[in-house]
Amino acid sequence: MTDFGGAIRLSDEYRIAVLGVPYDAKSSYLRGAALGPKAIREASTGLSTNEFTEKNVNLELDTVMSDLGDVQVEGDYERVSAAIQSALEPVLAKGAAPIVLGGDHSVTYPVVKAVARKYAALDILHFDAHPDLYDELYGDPHSHACTFARIMEEGLAGTLVQVGIRAASPPQRANARKFGVRLIEMKDIPDGLELAFRNPLFISFDMDALDPAFAPGVSHHEAGGLSTRRVVDIIHRLRARVIGLDVVELNPTRDPLGITAAAAVKIIKETAAEIVLGEREAAARS
Ligand code: MN
Ligand code: MN
Repeated sequence: MTDFGGAIRLSDEYRIAVLGVPYDAKSSYLRGAALGPKAIREASTGLSTNEFTEKNVNLELDTVMSDLGDVQVEGDYERVSAAIQSALEPVLAKGAAPIVLGGDHSVTYPVVKAVARKYAALDILHFDAHPDLYDELYGDPHSHACTFARIMEEGLAGTLVQVGIRAASPPQRANARKFGVRLIEMKDIPDGLELAFRNPLFISFDMDALDPAFAPGVSHHEAGGLSTRRVVDIIHRLRARVIGLDVVELNPTRDPLGITAAAAVKIIKETAAEIVLGEREAAARS
């Protein structure tokens, strides 16, 4: 059971839907991300946090957030990919915003496929230590390190901006140029970064974008990353209509105190607030 400070309600009238995808078969290094949804739900539950966000959105009363449970992840990647897309269909059909709990980063490709069917023009903001732009890794085109190559070659995103990158290799840089990806590398992130997007914005959040000091519970410890505070500030300053989020690569086997899961909960809450505020603004305009 997930909670988010008491915000979760069981209702078909939801505007935000939480969905777990406990799948980590496409991780190139360590397994464990399949336990991510359970860890995030546990960290979100209880009296450790309330339903308010920093921008004073009340996630219990200003929206309807539901938890639709986990997607069935039996079978090969094709089957899992189909299951993810069909689980998202009813959510998107009602114009609600999905918040997907991974799983390794390979789950993002089917998630974006489903979202792009709803929003023909879609922009993506991708937080990660890694560009995940390999054509293939160890012979696998669906490795978690290839997700954004698949997304871009299929033309699913108008604009892709990657933030927090600090492990780009030459083949990934070449693909970033080929696909017109904007890399905002760790070494170049300005203070007070403000990002504007023209199209509806999907955010894909790989927990290893954060420094291992703030998020030890990831498979790839890539030092020199973002603080949780800096991430929250970037999300708060977005000029975009946020329509969905996934949070991937949380590996609870390396997160004994639950610090990484708590960071995931924080990112989910603050992003959910942006979804609510964007919806409110769109309603005021129409
Ligand atoms: Mn990733
Ligand atoms: Mn990563």
